[in-house]
Amino acid sequence: MTSTARLKNFIGGVWCEPAGAEYLPVVNPATASPLAYVPQSDAAAVGSAVEVASRVYRNWRRIPPNDRAQFLYRFKTLLEAHQTELARTITDECGKTLAEASAEVRRGIENVEVACGIPTYLQGWNNEDISPGVDEHLFRQPLGVVAAITPFNFPAMIPLWFLPYAIACGNCFILKPSEKVPRTSVRLFELLEQTGLPAGVAQLVHGGRPAVDSLIEHPGISAISFVGSTSAARQVYGRAAANGKRVQCQGGAKNPVVILPDADMELTTQIVADSAFGCAGQRCLAASTAIAVGTAGDRFCAAISEAASSRRVGYGADPGVQMGPVISSESRERVERLIGSGCVGGGRILVDGRGKTVDGFEDGFFLFPTILDEVSPTSELARTEVFGPVLSLIRATDLDEAIAMINCAEYGNMASIFTTSGGAARKFRYEVEAGNIGINIGVAAPMAYFPFSGAKASFLGDLHAQGRHGVEFYTQTKVVVERWP
Ligand code: NAD
Repeated sequence: MTSTARLKNFIGGVWCEPAGAEYLPVVNPATASPLAYVPQSDAAAVGSAVEVASRVYRNWRRIPPNDRAQFLYRFKTLLEAHQTELARTITDECGKTLAEASAEVRRGIENVEVACGIPTYLQGWNNEDISPGVDEHLFRQPLGVVAAITPFNFPAMIPLWFLPYAIACGNCFILKPSEKVPRTSVRLFELLEQTGLPAGVAQLVHGGRPAVDSLIEHPGISAISFVGSTSAARQVYGRAAANGKRVQCQGGAKNPVVILPDADMELTTQIVADSAFGCAGQRCLAASTAIAVGTAGDRFCAAISEAASSRRVGYGADPGVQMGPVISSESRERVERLIGSGCVGGGRILVDGRGKTVDGFEDGFFLFPTILDEVSPTSELARTEVFGPVLSLIRATDLDEAIAMINCAEYGNMASIFTTSGGAARKFRYEVEAGNIGINIGVAAPMAYFPFSGAKASFLGDLHAQGRHGVEFYTQTKVVVERWP
């Protein structure tokens, strides 16, 4: 291990190694080789970041919102100038293709752009003469020190769901990124540093569970944003709320797409294949189950099997590659086991992506696209978040049966329908219990100015990430009633 390969925390405007920390390798999933080593910060490192943030907050909250936004305008310009380089960093540590990584950075930049509108977003309400000569006003004020804990699958976009809004609102912000993809966050903070943002307004603390525990226990932190698996989300939500913090936790997903017989089958197949296999199925909005209604079943089954078999898998930075590896060998083993479990209850594997290698990348964590047909809705595969390039086909006799299957499921992140019928689409969007709905859309990802509206086990809290919800989450209201006799 060389000293240059050891990543550092960014605390109080200084890049520093946490004292006595253990270091874990950050691995390129296409090669299984280490790219860097990430420190596992402890309570002392978290404590020093909170101490700096609490001090810096006193001045930062007094900077006018429009002046705070100027740092974000500079950040946007720097992110755009470094978009290709950031994408390459993401591809190397996360595995997705360069095109997917670049699109992710763009989605992140859009959140910076929206947060630049903070002077308007922070506007309050007022009423004159609630009683003769008495006026009432509502102001939005920052919370103090806030923290975000983010997952591996969007190393740039998800930190940017939170950071721009948190600091634009006048808070000081601490990021604990995924220990699997920390190099992207380091680069984001190096660019942020170049904006001249005052030291301590945004800080980076690497680590895993102990760092998270320290953040949710620390009395100096007012709010926690979390994105990750539902099991971790539940733990974080419960403990942070018990400690009196405001919390928003976005959890796992198991996204169904419904295909009606009147759908444009060619377009539907292409869109569903991109949803199920894009980012190697490691998107919280990836299609995981296709519910084919009536006569759509056999036609869709044939078309999607062809699309899965022909998808080009390889190193995400190589030209023409459409799908990279999954994040780790443990993840691949878990998904392979789930594929096997799909055969319980009558499921049949039509396209088997297990046991294949990519030439020149034999050590990589590759798993090729996989399709199972006639999967039982009650099987483990049909109920569990897979987070890999696997699509399960389930047959339904009509739209009512398809909607009933969706609504009895645990998760509610996204559900999509493919149809040319406005009536069917309207019924679907009205009745389906999911926070994000797609109509002839495979990845219904809300733009930065809409909330990322997961529901059921996919979200714990009330205000989601992005846009107006982000501003409301990171501010508290203060109401003033005034009389001037
Ligand atoms: P993960 O839950 O393993 O880790 C997420 C973060 O939490 C990491 O920073 C990790 O260090 C930390 N962590 C892990 N276990 C923890 C625990 N028990 N207590 C406290 N902190 C813990 O998730 P992941 O594997 O990095 O990411 C994939 C998951 O994230 C999937 O379930 C996916 O659906 C979900 N996700 C959800 C959304 C959404 O918007 N709903 C978006 C992206 C990813």
